[in-house]
Amino acid sequence: MAGQPHAATERSLRTSRLMEGITQALSVQHNNVVYDMKSAGQDIITLSLGEAFFDLPLPSFDGLTTPGLHHYSHSRGLPELRRLLAKYYGSGFALPVDPDTEVIVTAGSKAAIYMALMAIVDPGDQVIVPEPYWLSYPAQIRMCQGEPVMVPHDVPVFDFERFVTARTRAVIINNPNNPSGHVYTRAELEYLHELADRHGLLLIVDEAYNEFIPPGAEFISAGSLDPEKRHTVTVNSMSKNYGVSGWRIGYLIANERLTEQILKINQHLVTCAPTILAAYLAERFDDLLDVTRPQIQRTVQLRNRVAGWFADEGIDTMPGTSTFYLFVHLGGSGLDSTEFAGRLLRESAISVVPGIGYGDSCDRYVRVSVGSESEERIARAVAAIRDLVESTTPEHLTSRPRSRVESGV
Ligand code: PMP
Repeated sequence: MAGQPHAATERSLRTSRLMEGITQALSVQHNNVVYDMKSAGQDIITLSLGEAFFDLPLPSFDGLTTPGLHHYSHSRGLPELRRLLAKYYGSGFALPVDPDTEVIVTAGSKAAIYMALMAIVDPGDQVIVPEPYWLSYPAQIRMCQGEPVMVPHDVPVFDFERFVTARTRAVIINNPNNPSGHVYTRAELEYLHELADRHGLLLIVDEAYNEFIPPGAEFISAGSLDPEKRHTVTVNSMSKNYGVSGWRIGYLIANERLTEQILKINQHLVTCAPTILAAYLAERFDDLLDVTRPQIQRTVQLRNRVAGWFADEGIDTMPGTSTFYLFVHLGGSGLDSTEFAGRLLRESAISVVPGIGYGDSCDRYVRVSVGSESEERIARAVAAIRDLVESTTPEHLTSRPRSRVESGV
């Protein structure tokens, strides 16, 4: 019966209503197209990747002393790695952590965020998600049968209370923010803590880019304002700070009452993070940071130089100083962010991520990542973005003289 839909097969392959409402991660989907174009031999200036490429030593597992390297390990995470993470937060970010009861290491911070949500969200519960959000938050909330409540990007943090309802369970933020590079101020974090305290909410703070801070900017770990972890879950990752996104190692820090629940989820979903890689990270924890920190600083400086190039071209970027991302405004262009990114890819072989992936209020932006391309190629991309903004802006809006970046770096 080739070609005929078969009723039993239709039933067998029917997917859940829950998953029908979930879309692919826009950035990952977009990057799959870029991978395909590259493997077909095209040279794409790739400003769409969610990572910075560092020079790292190829890992040698020789001499690792952790026992059982090929096997499952403790489902909270290797004790030595937990101890080091507790010290990293305790001495580096004023957040005291008990490595035995308050940390869980798992297969990436993406999984850690999902497990935290799964542990606290009942069907119909709401989670407040400020835009621009990291695009997996709403999908993960929906996967937990919760309801994401988006906050448009122009609403100040100090107005978030008006999004709280009787069903609100949590607020999730990304500090520093992917894609804007915004670092939450002390006043903003204090306000969010008060909000959590007043309404009995959980504050989930994703700090995956906490090392990507320029000199002079102050990064405050939200957990340091709630050392007893009464309402704060801190999530972090080795992916960005250590430049090893493919290793899939992330972690969270939370009240023991929550980690007890999250541990069950971790045990039933992934058992443990990859043992041999966690052991390598534990044994080289500080050496590796010594290798990545100078490269992180160069990347952040590049980010801020590129922000200056856009400003020179009269192109705005959403305010921010950190990470390796810029959220670039499309000015007077008549294109929406999907059309803009599509044309940039087809006509100039430059990939950026459409802003719509980061929230409905962000369709006038595209995300540019400077983590994986040379300065010279990024400069070419800035000129191409300016040209596309200008050529798609109705005539009366383009009175500005052309300038600098096309001459190179
Ligand atoms: N949070 C943010 C804000 C991210 O940008 C990313 C990756 N792009 C993650 C979490 C996930 O990181 P991982 O799962 O690799 O730890």
